[in-house]
Amino acid sequence: MNLSDFSIIILSFGCVVLATDIDKIEWGKHHDNKEVFEILEAVNKRCPDITSLYHLKYRDTSGNERDETPRGNKLHVLAFGTSEPGRPEFKWVGNMHGNEVVGRELILRLAVDLCLGHRNGNPLAASLVGRARLHLMPSMNPDGWEIANDPSAPGRRTEVKGRQNANNVDLNRDFPDLDRRIYELERAGTGPFDHLFSNHTERCGRQPETCMVMKWILTNNFVLSANLHGGDKVANYPYDESRPDSPNAYSASPDDRLFRQLALAYSSGNPAMYDRRYACPAEGGADGRPNPFRRGVTNGAKWYSVASGMQDFNYLASNCYEITVELGCKKYPPGNELPRYWEENRQALVNYMSAVHFGIKGQVTKAGSPVAKGAAVITVDRIDTDGSVLPILHNVNTGAHGYYHRLLTDGPFVVTANAPGCAPVTKCVMIDNGVNLERWSARQVDFHLCADAAATGSGKPRQIDSSCEGVLVDGE
Ligand SMILES: [Zn+2]
Repeated sequence: MNLSDFSIIILSFGCVVLATDIDKIEWGKHHDNKEVFEILEAVNKRCPDITSLYHLKYRDTSGNERDETPRGNKLHVLAFGTSEPGRPEFKWVGNMHGNEVVGRELILRLAVDLCLGHRNGNPLAASLVGRARLHLMPSMNPDGWEIANDPSAPGRRTEVKGRQNANNVDLNRDFPDLDRRIYELERAGTGPFDHLFSNHTERCGRQPETCMVMKWILTNNFVLSANLHGGDKVANYPYDESRPDSPNAYSASPDDRLFRQLALAYSSGNPAMYDRRYACPAEGGADGRPNPFRRGVTNGAKWYSVASGMQDFNYLASNCYEITVELGCKKYPPGNELPRYWEENRQALVNYMSAVHFGIKGQVTKAGSPVAKGAAVITVDRIDTDGSVLPILHNVNTGAHGYYHRLLTDGPFVVTANAPGCAPVTKCVMIDNGVNLERWSARQVDFHLCADAAATGSGKPRQIDSSCEGVLVDGE
């Protein structure tokens, strides 16, 4: 008998049990919270060199460190790939609504596939985990999952029960409402237009799950993320909350083009989502009306307004871009339908993870040394077809070792790095995300601020790189 095939765990009290064998997991059934953790643990044990297992924590209003949901569950994350300077960080979040269970199972299955694929030398798995760091959280609401499965209560495994956490709060309405803030700032025209939660205190008085995820978002330098829901088939992008004077209207963010491309990266990999003929019954599919979502994507506010959601919090509080994906028509399908959901979404999952390599990345130095975390700001202007320069009013800042990552659509851009005490430096780039995807890397664009004495000191005119010759008229 090969012990690696029949690996055993010897528990501290001496009992011997068969560990989860990740080659033999039954995917045509749902996995409870204990099984979810066991699978993550088994993947970690099988692929120890490329994975790490951790759970989220936060500090409550009394300053105590906490790591549990109201029912005593933990929010477990399995990370693939190592943390290295310049390597983009990506996250999947599933099961935020406890009764929307497809994402939870897809993330689990993805974890197993990445591990086994990597071990078997699959080039796609090797590129996915070798060129980015992927954080997989199958369940953000394990309490809600338990409530959805409570056999003593009516409504078990239905479309309604278990959506909220154990305190009956919808976690996707529990984040700080930064949309309202950005709409006020836009009206005032003052800014800032990003990183609107930078003055937060360490202590959090929201739901434990929300506090843990907020801290996770704010302390990691995530580039891209998706929040997996169920009950429809669409990839939804910011803003989620309607502008005060325009209910039900499309509410574009400064990165609207980019968000559409990110949402399309997902939907185009899922024919059942992308093709209007396959609408869910709730959207008219049953009586032959077409899917209302063209190409399987929608602006959040245009669909229905959500205030205090997680998606827009990511965008407005951090460097992370997040979309919300409705994976399929049923929130809680029977277990035997899960393999079909996997087949429908598998390519979309790969497409979306690969999009973490869109745009540009690089290192910002100041007088020869990498700038500190958050110390340099990257601003971007898009060059339109008529040559006009259009600012994108959403900046990213540097993470550890002075590295930044800025997702961009295809086309020409003007990029400027700014840090206090140095003249800003501007470069021009032409983005071709197809080339990026072939290389499994965003285009490298480094900035050296205060490289000479003439560029040192506040208020110095910006230095325009030769890459902008013929692109920018002087002073633009
Ligand atoms: Zn949901």
